[in-house]
Order: sequence, then C-alpha cells, then structure tokens
Amino acid sequence: MFNLHTHTRFSDGSDEPQAYVEEALRQGFSTLGFSDHSPVPFDNTFAIREEELALYGETILQLKKRCRDIHGSDPLNPVQKGLQILLSLEIDFIPGITRTFDEYRRMLPLDYTIGSVHLVRNSDPSHLWFIDGPEMAVYDKGLLEVFGNDARKGVTAYYRQIQEMVATQKPGIVGHLDKIRMYNRDRYFSEASAWYTGLVDETLDIIKETGCVVEVNTRGIYKKRSETYFPGPAILQKIQDLRIPVTISSDAHKPHELSMLFPETKAFLFSIGFRELVNFSAAGMEYIPL
Ligand SMILES: [Zn+2]
Ligand SMILES: [Zn+2]
Repeated sequence: MFNLHTHTRFSDGSDEPQAYVEEALRQGFSTLGFSDHSPVPFDNTFAIREEELALYGETILQLKKRCRDIHGSDPLNPVQKGLQILLSLEIDFIPGITRTFDEYRRMLPLDYTIGSVHLVRNSDPSHLWFIDGPEMAVYDKGLLEVFGNDARKGVTAYYRQIQEMVATQKPGIVGHLDKIRMYNRDRYFSEASAWYTGLVDETLDIIKETGCVVEVNTRGIYKKRSETYFPGPAILQKIQDLRIPVTISSDAHKPHELSMLFPETKAFLFSIGFRELVNFSAAGMEYIPL
C-alpha cells in the first residue's frame, strides 16, 4: 500500500507529519509521500506559508532519515521492505503568478512533484477563479466574477492552464485532472459536450507525450463532493486506451484518510483494463501490479 498525495498541518491538513507516519506504519504501507501545497503569493488558508517552506522540507527529510535508519539497521528488514518516506509538493500552477516547478526542485530535494490547478486565471492576474475548497458558493462567485458566468470560457482556461503546466513544468503526477467539474453538477456545462471532451482529449495527448502519471484521486467520493473519482470513469477509460500510467491517491488531509477507498479503486481500475499502478521511490518510478 502506498499514497503519494498527503497534506499535513504545514498546509491544510490536520496533523504533524509524524502522525501520518505512525498511521502508515500501522497500515503496513510501503511508501508515504508528503505533498503539502506549495506557497502562493497572496493571502490564503490552504498553502504552506513561505516562511515555513524550509521547515517543512527539514521535517520530512528527518522522518525519511529516521525510517531509513530503523530499517537499515536491521539486516532481516532491509530498507526496501520498510516504510519509505518521500518529499514532494502539490504545486499550484498559475502562469505569471506562481514559481516554476524547477525553482521548487532547486529549493527542496523533491522526490517527485504533483502539479495541480486550483485557481484559474483570465487575462487579469488579480482575478482568479477558485474551483476547489469546501464551498460551492465560492465556485459560483468566481465563475461569475472572473469569467462573467461564461462556463465554456472558464473551463477552457482551466484545461489550457493544465496543458501549459504539463508541457512546461513536467510534473511527475497530474493532480485531480478534472476537478473543474466538482461543483458543476450539470449546472453550467455538460461533460458530454463536444467542446468539453475535445479539451480533455487535447490534454490527455499532451500528458501522453510528456510521460506524466495521472492520479486517480479518491477524495471527492469519501468527502461526498463527487460520485466518481477525479478523473471520472469516461476519462479513465481514455487514459487506459492511451496507456497513460496511473497511481491511486487519497489526497489525505487527516491520518485516517491515508488509504480511503483504495481496495475498491484498485478493483475498479482492474475492471476497466488497468494492470499496474505507478509508485515513486528515491530512485524514480516503479510499476506495481494491480
Ligand atoms: Zn489539489
Ligand atoms: Zn491535495
């Protein structure tokens, strides 16, 4: 068992990183990747504060070293059989506003990166559409204020931002690919319309070309904000057809969420043709049979 998408109290998660390590050990995890939200240069409640970024890195690296020492000192329990801790960030990509992924790669020894779009910009960078979070009213207000309620324009900007992120930043993992639909619920646009599926297809082609991994994010379901994974089943089938590699992640914000819905998700992915998942290690990507 492994999870590469985890938030602690350094961003919008609940606990110190140590609490997640204890839970991962209890559940017999092989790998636990920490991926708190990268800092963003404006007031917010979800990202690592700029002045805490270095401490975040040091804290995770300490845990990584401790886990390695524990397992490394026991010849019957070699490193590769123990819990591997990885340091990552879920990096927000807002062109012209956020740091490049390479800047973060230089600042911290990241084992991999997750690239996500939570804020969609239009031509005016002071106006951002926040598409995530616990409140649907924020999504509605943003669509109105930033894109004049023109959903096609806003959704197109979202997928273009993801396409630019994948092509220019080359994240290891693309986070919750179609999160833009979380609060849509058939109110503003149809996910079956040709313009929408066209945007998804273009995005998948770029992901395929770049070699990024797509995460199958279970959080929307266990938080009861979506009936399906991010991305949903129609997109997952396309991902399978294109042979794009996937990983399962819980996007945990609390220790007990670390492996939520993993058994059913593995069974579902197997049923639509997937046969392996990607895990990361200090040495790079590895394929785990489903
Ligand atoms: Zn996210
Ligand atoms: Zn996340």
